[in-house]
Formats: sequence, structure tokens, C-alpha cells
Amino acid sequence: MTEHTELAADIEEAVAALGLPPGWDLRVEIRPRRSTVGLQLTPGEPVKVLVPPHATPERVADVIRHHWGWLAQKIPEARRLAPDFAVKTFVNGEGFYLLGRSYRLHLTDDGPPTRIERLPHVLGTDEFLCVRRDRLDAMCNAVIALYCDRGMAWAREHGEQYEHHANIQGLRYEVRSLGRRRWGSYSPTKHLVSLHWPVFGLPQELIEYVLVHELAHATRPAGRHHGPAWQRQMSLWMPDWRQRKAALAQVGRRAWMGDYYQP
Ligand SMILES: [Zn+2]
Repeated sequence: MTEHTELAADIEEAVAALGLPPGWDLRVEIRPRRSTVGLQLTPGEPVKVLVPPHATPERVADVIRHHWGWLAQKIPEARRLAPDFAVKTFVNGEGFYLLGRSYRLHLTDDGPPTRIERLPHVLGTDEFLCVRRDRLDAMCNAVIALYCDRGMAWAREHGEQYEHHANIQGLRYEVRSLGRRRWGSYSPTKHLVSLHWPVFGLPQELIEYVLVHELAHATRPAGRHHGPAWQRQMSLWMPDWRQRKAALAQVGRRAWMGDYYQP
């Protein structure tokens, strides 16, 4: 065992001796550059106990004892906010949501990889997301490409009024996958707003929130990343942005991130 794994094992033992309530999942990680013991809580993940290499198991146990009440409150809260991403089945009738409209999946044998079409069905007509039969990953990628295309057109169109209002010049957009943790980002060096494609499967007011959030960064407000100047810009453009942010934390955990069932 290396020195660090030995320390981690000693600490884990000390933590276990505290008699944690069932459902508390704590992971010890030795962080060479830290100077103090820290606790890090991310929804859907074990609580990370971040430990500097010189810490003693007793010290770590003390910190956990000291934060017992905080953990007791935050762990159930984090469990409620843990992602529970939607999983799609590529069969006729599966529901998809894109830019505020819902569609039923209709598999076709020819035509383009994806298209949106009004089709008659038993109860009248409905809008269908037609996808050409293919391997599952290919069908999924084709649908993601459609989200990217439609999302890009929407972002450009809706971003314009804000660019105009704040005199933002030469801003670029992209819609692509940003992993599972971020809905959007703004790069000051590239002057580029990046939006995660699953954003466009969220309710309209949340799509708007993500776009406006990044555009507020693109005005390059003074101060901290989400500091007072950025918040002022947000409140100016979207007075209810805090409610939308809270709704995104709830609704976003059930978003479709491109997962599908493999038979
Ligand atoms: Zn931000």
C-alpha cells in the first residue's frame, strides 16, 4: 500500500467507528494540495471527504462530528436532487419533447435519418418525429443531430434581441454535448456561447433561462462569475430568473441526455 491509501484506510476506519446513519455514503479522498479537511456534496454521488496528506484520522472524525447536523440535512436533500435521467425506447409511439412541442416517434424505412411530419393517426393528426430505422446508436445520434440543428437555429434567433440590447458584437453559438453536469457555458476567449443539446428538450422557459444565463456572461460583467454585476444583468433581462434556475435544478434531473434502452 502507498502512504496515501494507508492513510485513507485508517481514516475510513475512524469514520466507520463514528456509527454513520444508514444511507450515508462517505468516500475518503486524499488531496495532496489541500491544507484543511473538507466535505463535498454533489447530488447523486457519495459525500467526498477531502483530506490533506498530513491530517490524522482523529482530526477527520472531529470534522465529521462537527458537521453532523449539516450532513443530516444535506444528504437527503442531495438525494432528492440526484439525476434520474430519462431513458428512451426507439419504438413507435415513444414521446420526445423538442423546443416546447411534443412528438411521437415514428420509425420509417426510407427518407432522411430524421424529419418532423404531421401524420394522420387514429384520433386525427399529430406531429411525429420520423426516424429512419437503423442501429440504435445511429438512430439516437440522428435525433441528437436534429436537437443540435433546431437548437442552434433557435439560439441564434432568440439571442439576437439580447445581443442587440447589450451591444454584444461578434458573438458565436454552438450546440453540442457538454457532458452531464453543465447546461451551457460561455468562453470569453472564443466569445462563444455553448449550449448542451438536451437543453432543447426542456420546457421553453428553461431553455430561455439557459440561453439568457450564458448571454449575461457574454456581456462580460465586472466582478465574480455569478457576482452582483452578472445578477443585475440577469434581473434586467429575466426578472424571474431565480425561479427558473430552481425549476431547472428540479426538471433538469429528469432530462433526456441521450440514454436509450438496449434490448
Ligand atoms: Zn454561469
